[in-house]
Amino acid sequence: MTSEEIAELRQRRYNGTVVSLKKAHSDLMVVRVKPDFPRPPHKPGQYCSLGLGNWEPRAEGCQLETLTPDDVSKVVRRAYSISCSIESESDTLLDVAAADWLEFYIVLVRENADGRIPALTPRLFALQEGDRLNVGEKITGAYTLDPVKPGDTVVFLGTGTGEAPHNYMLWDLLHRGHAGKILSATCVRYGRDLGYLETHRRLMARFPNYKYLPLTTREATVTKKVYIQDVLSGGELEDQLGETLDPAKTHVYLCGNPKMIGVPLRDKATGTKTYPEPPGVIEILEKRGFQADVSAVKFKGNIHFEEYW
Ligand SMILES: Cc1cc2nc3c(=O)[nH]c(=O)nc-3n(C[C@H](O)[C@H](O)[C@H](O)COP(=O)(O)OP(=O)(O)OC[C@H]3O[C@@H](n4cnc5c(N)ncnc54)[C@H](O)[C@@H]3O)c2cc1C
Repeated sequence: MTSEEIAELRQRRYNGTVVSLKKAHSDLMVVRVKPDFPRPPHKPGQYCSLGLGNWEPRAEGCQLETLTPDDVSKVVRRAYSISCSIESESDTLLDVAAADWLEFYIVLVRENADGRIPALTPRLFALQEGDRLNVGEKITGAYTLDPVKPGDTVVFLGTGTGEAPHNYMLWDLLHRGHAGKILSATCVRYGRDLGYLETHRRLMARFPNYKYLPLTTREATVTKKVYIQDVLSGGELEDQLGETLDPAKTHVYLCGNPKMIGVPLRDKATGTKTYPEPPGVIEILEKRGFQADVSAVKFKGNIHFEEYW
């Protein structure tokens, strides 16, 4: 493809600019994108798409890809939750309404165990500030704070960048002076994968009803892998929260790796549920009186979830 053809495709297919890009390390970034159009109305917790043309370069060290001549001119899009840095640089809560950008928290998928060659993140990680890309014009999703009542306890449980929508919902709760307790736990491989750790530490010092619980599974100092299911079953999560998980006043939000979430299979005829093995959070909590949302029958429970794949 000639540079003129690439310039023409970028001009025609892109509608947003990278206005800020901060890498926590080579494979993890917080990126802000300013759409050419006014920021679409949305609720914290929702997502939109980002896209780049297959003609764009890929970051080094990623699985190699072979494209047909037809594929080269296509734009590849993926869903991304809107994230939030929660604070402004002066350590006050961010004035989100005044922002003309959307924030995303993205991990580089270098290779895929399922055989599909990662298409978008190797290209997103070659971006620099000022570069252009495609932004979905619609922000959507049912993973929001709508079911939470004032005074409810809110527990966010995420793996990796599954923390993104939780950060935006946390901003919303703190901004509106939510009186109930809030806990956010994120499970990552290494401490360096906690891209918002310092923000959470400052927030904990400022907001007595807020607790951040970071969990790492591969740190050299960690002798036993601790997953979210473990801190839930072992009681550590409730110790950190300072109360027992009461289904009558607690909403639990789960985002990221489907294995952590553990959505059961439902037999439509009999209504019976089969939980996956090993157990995910949904099974542990449903045995304690919680109920997960079932979108197929429009049922809203007190466990809400967003699977990233
Ligand atoms: C509603 C929704 C919101 C999402 N929000 C985010 C987000 O805020 N941040 C983000 O990093 N990703 C998010 N994702 C995942 C994202 O859409 C892409 O799948 C991911 O960025 C990989 O794209 P790719 O084209 O490089 O690889 P793909 O070809 O799409 O490969 C997908 C594979 O990559 C792995 N994978 C995908 N996402 C992740 C992840 N976050 N962490 C670890 N492994 C992963 C899985 O093995 C999956 O099978 C979201 C997905 C959905 C459905």
